[in-house]
Amino acid sequence: MRGLVYAGPRHVSVTTVADPVVPGEHGAVVRVAAAGICGSDLHIYHGHGFSSDTGYCLGHEAVGEVVEVGGAVTSFGPGDRVLVPGSVGCSTCAACRSGDVLRCSNLSFGETISCYGLSHALPGSQAEMVAVPHAETNLVPVPPQISDEAAVLLTDNAPTAWYGARRARIAPGDTVAVIGLGPVGLMAVQAAFVMGAARVVGVDRVPARLQRAAELGAEPVEADSAKADIRTATAGGTDVAIEAVGSDTTIALAISAVRQGGRVSVVGVSHNKAFPLHMQAMQLKELEFAIGLCSVQRELPTLVNLTAAGRLKPEAVVSHRLPLSQGVEAYRMVSERAAGVCKVILDPSR
Ligand code: NAD
Ligand code: ZN
Repeated sequence: MRGLVYAGPRHVSVTTVADPVVPGEHGAVVRVAAAGICGSDLHIYHGHGFSSDTGYCLGHEAVGEVVEVGGAVTSFGPGDRVLVPGSVGCSTCAACRSGDVLRCSNLSFGETISCYGLSHALPGSQAEMVAVPHAETNLVPVPPQISDEAAVLLTDNAPTAWYGARRARIAPGDTVAVIGLGPVGLMAVQAAFVMGAARVVGVDRVPARLQRAAELGAEPVEADSAKADIRTATAGGTDVAIEAVGSDTTIALAISAVRQGGRVSVVGVSHNKAFPLHMQAMQLKELEFAIGLCSVQRELPTLVNLTAAGRLKPEAVVSHRLPLSQGVEAYRMVSERAAGVCKVILDPSR
């Protein structure tokens, strides 16, 4: 089959790779109908990957059709339309059975977290097909009213945003700052409003992304003057800040954006291993700080319902659809944040 392979910093190629085989009696193989490029793929593309491997397929956001299942899989069969969550768990431990797959007590992929497309351990889904371990946990049926594009957002970006917003305990009437308006941040803007936020301030430095946030009802704020502008616009700070970039600057901005007693929730992934927290400012503010990675399976029951009912609109963040054969160009566009580029969806059939 054809797959999009990571060859080294700023070097990907679309090439022939081995067809996946069903990974054991609990596994499945899915033919990919649509695959997303995520901000996390950009970390790898820029050489800040999660392993030192090269030559593996990238991607952890896929929707498609089951081709084959192992003998122990009873809930899915060939022809089922499914989404493949980016996070991966087993089908037996208590944590995974409750959707908390990143706390799995059985799976270990060496240095990397349990996710597709970070190393050879679990090849990614920017390919014609993908092998899925433990299908009962790692496949989710897609209701017919949810489009392929929306379903791709439900595999990672939308649940991550929801998780970030949930951990910030957004309450009706809150004012929320969302820092970083990529697909994750734009989904966080939507999540905040669904949770009852009265106002959302959206911070980025890319005009088209500020524009998209404004279309979703957020008040756009340019990153360079954000610290002062948020203070002025909110009379001293927001109730909540969600960081969806993954840098020292933006985590610091999130901490300074909230009011006394405010809540900061970080979902951006930084390639810095440590960050100097301004302990005194945080203590004086009596600030709450949450950070983590999203177990997509845990958030999905809520998000599938909200999307099927039209309350969340993940497709609103999609800007481009390209054939997998143009994957090299797609990565270049996403990396350069070329004019108007937000979420890029690849079609592996072309
Ligand atoms: P993205 O790269 O498309 O978006 C990041 C946005 O941040 C861009 O719009 C960029 O212009 C903006 N930005 C950069 N510097 C900024 C600054 N100083 N101030 C304000 N905005 C700035 O990425 P994405 O797909 O939206 O993902 C966002 C982050 O979330 C990434 O770090 C990704 O790795 C992470 N992520 C985390 C999880 C999780 O489970 N926690 C899951 C998926 C993605
Ligand atoms: Zn488990």
